[in-house]
Amino acid sequence: MATLTREQYDSIMFRYGQRQRDRLSEIESRRRRVYAAIPEYRKLDESVPTKAMDTLRARLSGGSEKDCRSEISQISAKKRSLLRMHGFPEDYLEVPCICPLCRDTGYVKGEKCVCFKKEEVRLLYDQSNVEILAKTACFENLSEEFYTGEALDNFKRARAAALRFVSTFGRDYRNLYFYGPVGTGKSFLSVCVAAKILEAGYSVLYFSAASMFDRLSSLCYDYRLREEYRSFTEDLHSCDLLIIDDLGTELPSQTVSAQLFTCINERALRQKATIISTNLSLEDLQKNYSDRVFSRITNGYELCKLTGKDIRLLKKVRTINGTNQKTRQTQS
Ligand SMILES: [Zn+2]
Repeated sequence: MATLTREQYDSIMFRYGQRQRDRLSEIESRRRRVYAAIPEYRKLDESVPTKAMDTLRARLSGGSEKDCRSEISQISAKKRSLLRMHGFPEDYLEVPCICPLCRDTGYVKGEKCVCFKKEEVRLLYDQSNVEILAKTACFENLSEEFYTGEALDNFKRARAAALRFVSTFGRDYRNLYFYGPVGTGKSFLSVCVAAKILEAGYSVLYFSAASMFDRLSSLCYDYRLREEYRSFTEDLHSCDLLIIDDLGTELPSQTVSAQLFTCINERALRQKATIISTNLSLEDLQKNYSDRVFSRITNGYELCKLTGKDIRLLKKVRTINGTNQKTRQTQS
């Protein structure tokens, strides 16, 4: 992953500190509530350190620490039942960490936790768009109702390919190519996949083709940004999943074509998965880019064609009709 600046690193670590502080203060305020409601609970709490000292002393002197231990576990059971009796959940004082893997420290055994790496991607590349989309995009929300006939068959095939991609990710090396007219659900399918792969803890980069090539060309011609260019291309070539959305909406040029080839070729060499979505037909793909791009994609990607009416438009029409109906009802 490209390197964070000192400020970016500090801001991530500050947030981890904040999470830990928030959690501790939540535990503290719950404890106060419990103590106020159950004075006996407090007494039990206060007796535990003494018992723990007894255990330690017993261990050091070679005596029986078993008795002390069982006494402590009896106290815990008593505490749980007290909570229950007073209408608190048994685990009321166990406030979970946001990330149980690193317990909100950002590190696991000296290595950056997956949650840290996600945070890095967010800071380095603006991925807020895909995060927002991923919240609503899930396979369960994929509706067949907008497709009929051949379009429905195509949609089912594409969805099956996407599900296969998700379920075999990390084991099998696969790439997907969604193509078809505007509004047939290509990007939505890509985001559904992204959400699942992110959830599984992999690194995912999601770019619209226009913004990806923009960034590449603004970096590659400026020698002062050479380091940034190097780390950007490294991330493009090495992230677990790269999604290039709306290929063909960027300004076409030979440079773009070469950059696209380098990108998908490097990823193929490293066996890193890529998803491309586009409005371009296969003929246009061959015409707009090089033969090598065409051949790489048609040979190395599962080609999923989507057809049908523009869903976004259908939805809009439906909303308008819905509003009209409501207005009519209120009028009558
Ligand atoms: Zn973590």
